[in-house]
Amino acid sequence: MSKKVRTRFAPSPTGYMHIGNLRTALFEYLIAKHEGGDFILRIEDTDQGRLVEGATDIIYDTLKAVGLQHDEGPDIGGDHGPYVQSQRLPMYKKYAEELVELGGAHYCFCSEEEIERQRKEAESLGISFKYDDPCKHISLEEAKARVAAGEPYVIRQTIKNNQETYFDDEVYGRIEVDSDVLDEQILIKSDGFPTYNFANIIDDHQMEITHVVRGNEYLSSTPKYNLIYQAYGWDIPTYVHVPPVMKDEHHKLSKRNGDASFQDLVAKGYLPQAILNYIALLGWSPESDQEIYTLEELIQVFNIARISKSPAIFDIDKLTWMNGVY
Ligand code: GLU
Repeated sequence: MSKKVRTRFAPSPTGYMHIGNLRTALFEYLIAKHEGGDFILRIEDTDQGRLVEGATDIIYDTLKAVGLQHDEGPDIGGDHGPYVQSQRLPMYKKYAEELVELGGAHYCFCSEEEIERQRKEAESLGISFKYDDPCKHISLEEAKARVAAGEPYVIRQTIKNNQETYFDDEVYGRIEVDSDVLDEQILIKSDGFPTYNFANIIDDHQMEITHVVRGNEYLSSTPKYNLIYQAYGWDIPTYVHVPPVMKDEHHKLSKRNGDASFQDLVAKGYLPQAILNYIALLGWSPESDQEIYTLEELIQVFNIARISKSPAIFDIDKLTWMNGVY
């Protein structure tokens, strides 16, 4: 029997929710619901320096306003809220320690200043920089003794040369990256917080996510994430990377600039349902030429195979036309 389809929307609460973010959530919701599956909401707030106050509420309210109800989560007074990564910190640490034992990561005691110095030096010489971490060669026994003695450390991914690092994306096809160029990224920072890269993988596994749907800017890092799945012996999810929504031919919509935010559009008189209908057609095309859909109809007709690789341009005139039809 095949597994129940489970998708997740995993925003970082770092600003406004623009139409591109909402479109990703919608595709995730439709992929799950088309198969009678579950849609999970997970707030990825481990980068505490980038948090924007109120951003989580905006995400929550926006999804509610358009009817993208998530299926489970911790109890918040009778209702179920989203999963929140900062409330799950000890678990990530435990998993990272296990990964060290499995040989997929190691303790690193290098100073950030020294790594930064090397990075700058390489940059000034115009050479691409990849940190060759000497701590990889410290025995596990010695590393653990240094950790126990209170020496500051991070946990860093270990990437061996010549590993197979290709995967098949549902939208972009086969993606192949040379393992020799992959960076050994930090998984647990010196303050004990996981990085996005690590927490995201652990949660996707723990929450039994079958389809990872996200922006195509993650395509080139995905092989690195897959090496972590492999080190644990976990199944790799199905990947559905989606093209960006653009402001114009050259610029992506950006949270930071407050581009095309859902709240602004609603404040200007656009109806949530019209916005939802419009964004379903940004980078996805139905088999028929029908343009006006309810959410229920979208659930029925949505299919991954018709998601486009090319970026979609946000066209306010088209949205205005659609709004008029509602
Ligand atoms: N927190 C990441 C973001 O907001 C999520 C990426 C993903 O869905 O894996 O970009």
